[in-house]
Amino acid sequence: MTSKRCYFEILGVERSASEDEIKKSYRKLAMQYHPDRNPDNKEAEEKFKEAAEAYEVLSDPQKRDIYNRYGHEGLNGAGYRGFSGFEDIFSSFGDIFGDVFGFSTGRSRSRSSAQAGADLRYDLDISFMDAALGTTTEIDLEKYTLCTTCQGSGCEPGTSPQICSRCNGRGQVMQSSGFFSISTTCPQCRGQGGVITSPCKECSGAGRVRIRKTVQLKIPAGVETGSRLRLRGEGEEGVHGGPNGDLYVFIEVQPHDTFDRSGDDVICRVPITFVQAALGGSVEVPTLTGKEKLKIPRGTPTGKIFRLKGQGIAHLRGYGRGDQIIETVVTIPSHLTRKQEELLREFEKLSGQAAAG
Ligand SMILES: [Zn+2]
Ligand SMILES: [Zn+2]
Repeated sequence: MTSKRCYFEILGVERSASEDEIKKSYRKLAMQYHPDRNPDNKEAEEKFKEAAEAYEVLSDPQKRDIYNRYGHEGLNGAGYRGFSGFEDIFSSFGDIFGDVFGFSTGRSRSRSSAQAGADLRYDLDISFMDAALGTTTEIDLEKYTLCTTCQGSGCEPGTSPQICSRCNGRGQVMQSSGFFSISTTCPQCRGQGGVITSPCKECSGAGRVRIRKTVQLKIPAGVETGSRLRLRGEGEEGVHGGPNGDLYVFIEVQPHDTFDRSGDDVICRVPITFVQAALGGSVEVPTLTGKEKLKIPRGTPTGKIFRLKGQGIAHLRGYGRGDQIIETVVTIPSHLTRKQEELLREFEKLSGQAAAG
């Protein structure tokens, strides 16, 4: 083994350099000696590899510690062997090269790469009462799921895909530029590595089928129009072990005949007779959960507000409920019996005398 240069010297940093300084310095060198910029330059190639090795050690706290204490021998003893070639370097530092040079290192495109399932949206109409009090319901969804006939392979049972002739099953093809090659997704098999010659009859080779599924849904009390419920994993199925997508249920609340809503308060208008308005009394008012007696004091006009504390809609986040707000509406009879009319005229006469006296 030829004598190796000191890693700190290679990167041109102090022994006390921070992770950031090391990264910065390495990026500078990597750009300078990158094989794309120095085709057929043996010296640049060596410098490029040297810098990568130095960075790989100094950017890893454990390796840096070993190197600080025992030097190159220490790393050899710990089993560190450096890089075997460019592909090794690029697959280790994909993120650094990815954003410096803007090309794919091929690492993220392996043919069996896991893929997350798509999210799904479902629009659900619910009643005012269900929104106020919460409920459980079922919704029917159509979604894709793994084809059980072919286990997602897309091949008729008993057959398997032919190895792609273009990429020999790698799913990637190499494109040369100088002595350095870039791998890209194979255009013939679109990265799958194989071509299906006898597609599964159940799914026509897609590997998945559309199914109907019933999902139980718990709607918490207090939702309103525009509320969005997320059901983890109820979206489309992931591929190759990728996670399932999520299901988003968008809520639309239908209006109610008796109740309106203002934030978490519920509002209702309660008719009272003009005798109740004048003399006071007690009326029965509807609430979200039943009925409640409300005392009306003497001389209550139309538009008087009464509040039933904690009888409104549950707070979706946090504890407790809003209030019920009751607004009185004094009703005037449109039909009077002769007797009622006589009494009202008498009432008016007395009122006139009271005002005059
Ligand atoms: Zn199938
Ligand atoms: Zn291919």
